[in-house]
Amino acid sequence: MRRTRRLAALAATGLALSSVVSGCSFLGFGNDPADLQVYSARHYGSEKVFKQFTEETGITVDFIDDEAPNLIERIKAEGKASPADIFMTVDAGNLWNAADQGLLAPIDSPALDAAVPADLRDADNRWFGLVSRARTVVYNPAKVKPTDFDAQDTYAGLDDPKWKGRLCMRDTSESYTSALVAALIDLHGRAEALEIVKGWVANDVDIMANDVLLLEAVEAGTCDVAITNHYYLARNQAEGKFKDLGLYWASQDGAGVVTNVSGAGVVATSDAKAKAQKLLEWLASPKGQVAMLAGNHEFPVNPAVEVDGPAAAFGPFKRMPIDAAAYGELNAEALDLLVEAGYK
Ligand code: FE
Repeated sequence: MRRTRRLAALAATGLALSSVVSGCSFLGFGNDPADLQVYSARHYGSEKVFKQFTEETGITVDFIDDEAPNLIERIKAEGKASPADIFMTVDAGNLWNAADQGLLAPIDSPALDAAVPADLRDADNRWFGLVSRARTVVYNPAKVKPTDFDAQDTYAGLDDPKWKGRLCMRDTSESYTSALVAALIDLHGRAEALEIVKGWVANDVDIMANDVLLLEAVEAGTCDVAITNHYYLARNQAEGKFKDLGLYWASQDGAGVVTNVSGAGVVATSDAKAKAQKLLEWLASPKGQVAMLAGNHEFPVNPAVEVDGPAAAFGPFKRMPIDAAAYGELNAEALDLLVEAGYK
């Protein structure tokens, strides 16, 4: 059931900022409200992207920035009076949850259907993946050869005792780790996933608070291998940092790299659904894709858009298809499993 697709990919989830960060208006004059209000948990250069959309369409955009669960609660609390037109976030599980709670409207759009592969959007068209990210292995080539990894199941293979004292991974403050473990539960079942995570813990995995710390630790030799979202390495290498680190595409002889999306849906109570749909269609179009990728070096969902820039240097890879319902439903179970395994 796992199928492959060149380049695409998703990864997991997003930076969590704990507070509402900003509200910005583009081409809005005076105190006039913008045409569209976006509630966004995607923290990667949204301002520039919306500005370009406004310049091209004349549709003005305001947005607020917060963590996905907070935004979901806010939309629910505001009810019919919610100013939100679009909910945007990282992690397919978050999108699935918003749709599952009835917060998103189905959108009938041949343009979105054509631009977004089926497993990167909701079966009922309530949300659409817009860019994708891969969560894979970064290593120190002075200490590790690519052939040292288990090409069949790279994540699970890190439970081998040969990696003892050599692993760094991300904490559970962000959904990156829980989404990865949800994917492992989906793939292997809970019991086997628990054994895998227990194996990482038995290898004295060093758990860190963000993905950049992981890269710094691999470079410094504190650990030899880390699991990270690909764009942290791409972004930093574009700035001349971490040039000597290697990226290994996980599980290429097996299920493929664990990926996730950043995506969006139209809020069910929006009174500007046509304009909101236009924004989603633009974001999935080649111009919108290029604008989004410029901010964060993720991968386009639209197969018509070439991958270029620093992320292209990592080469093509096979990804594990995204099972958004599983990621959404298994998130709490993944967090329980991590606690049970002593991952902290
Ligand atoms: Fe991130």
